[in-house]
Amino acid sequence: MKTRILLICIASSLALFTALVTAGKDFYGILGVSRDAQNRQIRKAYKELSRKWHPDKNPDKKEEAQAKFVEISEAYEVLSDEEKRRIYDQYGEEGLKQNGGGGQTHNPFDVFSQFFGGSFGGHQQRQERKGPEISLELAVTLEDLFSGRDVDVELNKQVLCPKCRGTGAKNPDDVTTCSSCHGHGIKIVRHQLGPGMFQQMQTTCDVCGGKGKVVRTKCPHCQGKKVKRRSNQISVAIERGMTDGQKIVFEREGDQSPDVTPGDVVFTLKTAEHPVFTRVGDNLYTHETITLQEALVGFRKVLKHLDGSEVILDRNGTVTQPGYVQELLQEGMPLHTFPSERGKLYVEYNVVLPTKLTTTQADAILQHFSGHREEL
Ligand SMILES: [Zn+2]
Ligand SMILES: [Zn+2]
Repeated sequence: MKTRILLICIASSLALFTALVTAGKDFYGILGVSRDAQNRQIRKAYKELSRKWHPDKNPDKKEEAQAKFVEISEAYEVLSDEEKRRIYDQYGEEGLKQNGGGGQTHNPFDVFSQFFGGSFGGHQQRQERKGPEISLELAVTLEDLFSGRDVDVELNKQVLCPKCRGTGAKNPDDVTTCSSCHGHGIKIVRHQLGPGMFQQMQTTCDVCGGKGKVVRTKCPHCQGKKVKRRSNQISVAIERGMTDGQKIVFEREGDQSPDVTPGDVVFTLKTAEHPVFTRVGDNLYTHETITLQEALVGFRKVLKHLDGSEVILDRNGTVTQPGYVQELLQEGMPLHTFPSERGKLYVEYNVVLPTKLTTTQADAILQHFSGHREEL
């Protein structure tokens, strides 16, 4: 009796084992996240890995990087999609393939540029009917443009209904040819003008609205509307040295409609005014106020830069004229095309004179500059 139970146990664990083997790729393992990972963690993992393994960033091991990159984007595509993830969790990769093209993946570079915008990686131009562009202003600080930053933006947009994939029908065979126009979308109407005289007119079919197809049972998920509104999170990569007014384009990330290529989503950077630094091109300008004593005998000051680093203003033993502008090379903004190179930093000095001197102070100064009180 006991052995029989044991045998059953072995048999069932074997079945479980085969189920795991046929499940295909371990998308969680590829992204290095746990099975209960939140969407945010999945996005973060994709963000880091896809950048690390982008073939453009690995010219010395392009083939390995390419394979990794494809794997990462495949895993991300599945795990970031609620529906696909559910199927994958239940039935594995095989399940996705069987689920009506659910396993069909997009161009990994498209996934990447959807995530990071078109400024990085490959993109294609297609000549199709395109939906309207969505233009958004993105407020950034000078610090963001100096050090670079990823900004997550919540985008509420229209998407094709994930259940019916934009057909509006409950099942694919619920879409049938319109019997009124026989699928032509138009009807020929004959008007009798007089005896033996007819006028033929072509009109759009009123039954199918010119589509040539009718839906027998509407998709319950979108009530046959074919689209839904959904909140989508995208990560806008603000790169070091980007400029005010610069556009970051997310190709085909706009509202989705059946038979229309979605328009682009375009973010325009808008820099907030900075209390300390003013930017002109790749150069930065700032003002520093010094005392009369500092102007005469020199000083050593620390200026906090945009990334928190310290710029030493060392003018010990030097006279600084009011309005003097000190030029510091390689302390300006990073160049967007070549961020290890930087522009200049200009520091203009204001000298604050004391409002009043004591007699002792005045006498001492007179003595120093060998003047006479009466002469002043
Ligand atoms: Zn029709
Ligand atoms: Zn639907």
